Amino acid sequence: GRREAILDGNVRRVLARHFALRGHAGETRVAARFWRLAQSLVPARGVERYAQALMDLGAGVCTRRAPACDACPLKRTCRALALGRVDAFPAPALRKPKPRRKTAMLVLRHAGEVLLEKRAPAGIWGGLWSLPEMPFDGDARAYCAERLGCELADVKEMARLRHAFTHFTLDIRALACDVSRIGPAVRAGGSIWIGIDDALGAAVPAPVKTLLERIARAV
Ligand code: SF4
Repeated sequence: GRREAILDGNVRRVLARHFALRGHAGETRVAARFWRLAQSLVPARGVERYAQALMDLGAGVCTRRAPACDACPLKRTCRALALGRVDAFPAPALRKPKPRRKTAMLVLRHAGEVLLEKRAPAGIWGGLWSLPEMPFDGDARAYCAERLGCELADVKEMARLRHAFTHFTLDIRALACDVSRIGPAVRAGGSIWIGIDDALGAAVPAPVKTLLERIARAV
């Protein structure tokens, strides 16, 4: 019959260590290399015994966390052992870096209160109270004048925040803005001036809470 290589996770681990194979089998090229190697090792006779022995070795000796190299029949030829780097094989899967998004949050302060806006029901932090946001590199004075009709007396950069979502990372530039004049134009659909303690008790996203706490401490 045909000589078929077996290549389950246990066997891949034994091969990766014994031949010090680089790369993770999740990558197509690496998987192909594993497969070629596995095929090339299948003996002409005693295929089943060989396959069983290899699987047993992976399951019982060359285990993922605690390989028993001393007791391993392959220890004399094992490359990973010779290199003293058994732990390094097989290589872990490469983690793709998460996409980045950026925003700037404005903590608008006036008469001991801060401005919160209700977020749209859909999207991130849907329905929560949050801080007004502008593009990351935006100009706070111009933005507040245009969008909220507010005049700012002072704008201070706060320490930036990074918030990790499951699918992306949000870099947050934060600005503490003292409002000297409140305009009438506050976005439709709910925004409130609220005492900072009440704001801290509201349903706000974690980074917003962090910013409000910093402001509260600084007051
Ligand atoms: S010597 Fe150690 S690392 Fe190498 S195959 Fe045997 S158990 Fe695995």
